[in-house]
Amino acid sequence: MSSETYKDKISILGVEIQRGESKVLDFDVAKLHTRNSIKVPIFIERAKKDGPVVLLLGGVHGDEINGVEIVRRIIRNKINKPTRGTIISIPVFNIFGFLNLSRKFPDGRDLNRVFPGSAKGSLASQFAFQFKKDIAPHVDYVLDFHSGGGHRVNVAQTRCMLDDEKTLELAKVFNAPFIVQSKTISKSLRETFKELGKTALLFEGGKSMLYDEKAIQYGVQGARNVLRFLKMKSFKALPRDPSIIIAKSKWLRASHSGMFHVHIENGTWVTKKTVMGVITDPFGSFERKVYAPFDCYVFCVNIAPIVNRGDAVFHVSLELK
Ligand SMILES: [Zn+2]
Repeated sequence: MSSETYKDKISILGVEIQRGESKVLDFDVAKLHTRNSIKVPIFIERAKKDGPVVLLLGGVHGDEINGVEIVRRIIRNKINKPTRGTIISIPVFNIFGFLNLSRKFPDGRDLNRVFPGSAKGSLASQFAFQFKKDIAPHVDYVLDFHSGGGHRVNVAQTRCMLDDEKTLELAKVFNAPFIVQSKTISKSLRETFKELGKTALLFEGGKSMLYDEKAIQYGVQGARNVLRFLKMKSFKALPRDPSIIIAKSKWLRASHSGMFHVHIENGTWVTKKTVMGVITDPFGSFERKVYAPFDCYVFCVNIAPIVNRGDAVFHVSLELK
């Protein structure tokens, strides 16, 4: 199942790791102006037996802590110790952003928009470049754990191009409640892995700066399902309904500015003309209902208390597969 034969030793960041070995490496990224060097810990677990190499990534965006918690739980519960193949875990990929609880790098860049990076580019770009050169080539599969940005709450979902059969298969195996068609964004980590011929699956759950227990559990279980499928570790299968596959989606936008009150439950099916929310002024004189324009699943809800006209408020399904 591995794209290349399982090597007796692999060399990552100048360190050799043999079959059967565990290592924690420090990805030495940069020195800050305060002379502190910033290191990203990387946990590598290699089984003696042949198998694929899986990368578990959290915190590509520094404020999306659900992903960090998912990878932390995987390590804490030793799910990252395979009986076949290799598991590389990076719980906090953008450690700069995590320290500041910010989505971005200290240079203001979004790490997920600077790939494949360059040796002489911005700080984020150099980091991306090093990662692509030293770590990405070893990897066969990537699980990249994210959360909704700002006030947007994502129901646990994986995202992929539905016409990419290998990734779609992995998404079905992962078995989050939803699989959402999503184009690969230019200069993203996902695009880089795709170009290298690797299979990268993106997970979204909860929102930034908030633990979402349900999403975290789906993320950890999804990783187990994938490792089981790749025969890297034996877990009991957990019978669950297949993921709902959303082939086309649409953002419903606020028709007015005002205080926004959500009336539906995220992740549910709503029928046309259901009152999904209400937008009001603060004075008791204005109140407008937000109706479902058609039957749909809601898989992301903006819980901002105040919205402006045109803000995206509900992400809903247009077409199921
Ligand atoms: Zn993200």
